[in-house]
Amino acid sequence: MNKKFNLEKIVRENIRDLKPYRSARDDYDSGILLDANENSFGSPIENDLELNRYPMPYQEKLRSEIADYRKVDSKNVFVGVGSDEAIDLLFRIFCSPGKDKVITNPPTYGMYKVSANINNIKVDEVLLTPDFQLQTERILNRVTDFTKLIFVCSPNNPTANDMDRKDIIYLLENFDGLVVVDEAYIDFSEQAGFAEEVKNYPNLVVLQTLSKAFGLAGIRLGIAIANPDIINYMMKVKAPYNVNKLTSQAALNGFENLGSVQKNIKSINSEKKRIVADLENLAQVEKVFPSDANFLLFRVDDALNVYKKLADSGVIVRYRGNEPHCENCLRMTIGTAEENDQFLEALTKILNS
Ligand SMILES: *Cc1c(COP(=O)(O)O)cnc(C)c1O
Repeated sequence: MNKKFNLEKIVRENIRDLKPYRSARDDYDSGILLDANENSFGSPIENDLELNRYPMPYQEKLRSEIADYRKVDSKNVFVGVGSDEAIDLLFRIFCSPGKDKVITNPPTYGMYKVSANINNIKVDEVLLTPDFQLQTERILNRVTDFTKLIFVCSPNNPTANDMDRKDIIYLLENFDGLVVVDEAYIDFSEQAGFAEEVKNYPNLVVLQTLSKAFGLAGIRLGIAIANPDIINYMMKVKAPYNVNKLTSQAALNGFENLGSVQKNIKSINSEKKRIVADLENLAQVEKVFPSDANFLLFRVDDALNVYKKLADSGVIVRYRGNEPHCENCLRMTIGTAEENDQFLEALTKILNS
């Protein structure tokens, strides 16, 4: 528990006082609908989604499906256009441009900083340790009256590892702003996620996405799980019809096929094991970092050159050598068995040439 946390105190004043837009569907959503200037003659596309009509503003059905899956209540769930929308909304709700600050822990996901820059919010960076864990005391020492959010990515991108659970809890208990735990890769990890902890921590926001383990990056569906008061602010500030009908239908179909999701996670994790073993057998690979995600970070001599040569042979990975503690590191997403074979073959050839 964090007794000093007070949500109303950290919300921007203009947002606390905001009267949200009321869409036509907020009042009535059935009957002869002549209220929203839609086209009653229909859409040019034949399906049963009634695409001539606006989508549901609050996505009750999808949110309830997600809530069941993550063992929380619908009131704890926000859905948006990718996690990126949720990140941007947190800045807009809690951080006053030119005044407030957030803390990130590099090397980490680049979007926190981009979103901060777009919103004119300062970023205090507290590096992870060389084995990629949080420096909790240093983080708390950097907190000022203007620090509103701490971003923790677990499993972290690009380092692939879980953050220590007790460190996240320590931040939740000792920071009076929001701790945003980005769990984009949580379904690949053996560690339990933090979603259910929103009942215990009113200052916790868990970000999830259908882009990774669910294999639905194309539909752009991101999720925030938090205390209902935080979710209400997100609902108030979001664009009224942020999640479209095609996305929401595809997401619901995804939840009807959880067996396939689970099967793919298993396959990815077992491929990952195999590639780790193969990479560790290559003398020129200096280190393969432990992974709790669907990608691997590894170190080779002259990584930038290896990266370019891999691309020349048709295998695209990500060069991460410019990130702190990641000198000469490449990040490789686990692909299908055939893709991984081609990656290993190309890499072996390059390293032996
Ligand atoms: C891929 C990724 C996301 C996903 O973002 P979406 O906008 O939901 O596709 C979020 N956070 C991290 C750390 C990621 O690597």
